[in-house]
Amino acid sequence: MVYTKKRKIKKEAIITIIAIIIVIILIITSICIYKHFTSTEYKLGKIGYNEKEITTLLKADDKVLTKALENKYDKYLIPLTKEKYFLWKNYDKYVKEIKKTLEKSNKIDYTDIVAKVNVKRNYDYYTHTEKTDMDKENAILVNKYYSLPEKYAPKNIVDVSNWHAYGNIKLNNEAYEAFKTMFNAAKKDGITLIINSGYRTYEAQKQTYDDYKNWYDEEYADGIAARPDFSEHQTGLALDIITYGTSGKEFENTDAYKWLQKNAHKYGFILRYPKGKEDITGYSYESWHYRYLGKDLAQKVKNSGLTYDEYYAYYLD
Ligand SMILES: [Zn+2]
Repeated sequence: MVYTKKRKIKKEAIITIIAIIIVIILIITSICIYKHFTSTEYKLGKIGYNEKEITTLLKADDKVLTKALENKYDKYLIPLTKEKYFLWKNYDKYVKEIKKTLEKSNKIDYTDIVAKVNVKRNYDYYTHTEKTDMDKENAILVNKYYSLPEKYAPKNIVDVSNWHAYGNIKLNNEAYEAFKTMFNAAKKDGITLIINSGYRTYEAQKQTYDDYKNWYDEEYADGIAARPDFSEHQTGLALDIITYGTSGKEFENTDAYKWLQKNAHKYGFILRYPKGKEDITGYSYESWHYRYLGKDLAQKVKNSGLTYDEYYAYYLD
């Protein structure tokens, strides 16, 4: 009798324990299911990202992940945000440019698209123009999208000595001082640098531009001269350099050019329109055209390997 009762109690205890275990298992399973369906991985999968993309997105920074979670599937999000010079403010413009590119070819060069949109090259020259930020002083950007204030005439313009230049040339005072230091350093290395062109007034630039426009047409004029208020020469910070016995086009084959390639940035100058970057700068390669930025900035631009338009868009704008 006692034995049977004991067995019954034992049986009840086992049932209770099993029941408790089942409940625990159910709770854990529910939590797991809940966790799965509310997980970032699940949500990203539901939006349409594949396993590889999800892994990338989970490692990406918060802003990228949030963008992915809050929008429809976007196959450009990962490749675009991976680009070194990607800027969030240009996101929609990058996508628009990608779609425009895809109408013509099926190859997308993300680096090229980011570079172009950053410098506004997704727009035609002289469209979407804005006044440049004059507070940037020596670092002001002047190109086919950023203009100087109307009929701008800079202060601190000085005459360049005939010792350093051909003809009557003027330059920004600071730029000229830096040039003199560079001139002397080059001289020590047996190189003679000669300024062939410097500051150009609004009126002079307008005359040149209008002449081309009248003789030919606007397209031709735009291809050969900057519009007034859009020329770097009007800042007093740009100069064309040549050496004995050469004109502009031959300058790239001279030792003077090689010397400048190696040293100009140390004195605050950069080659403004490099080879292969015509579509970014909006100008054909000009081995003779240098821009004064100041030592620190010129050094940084040189190290970046970027054109000044790209550097400005990413670091200074
Ligand atoms: Zn020039």
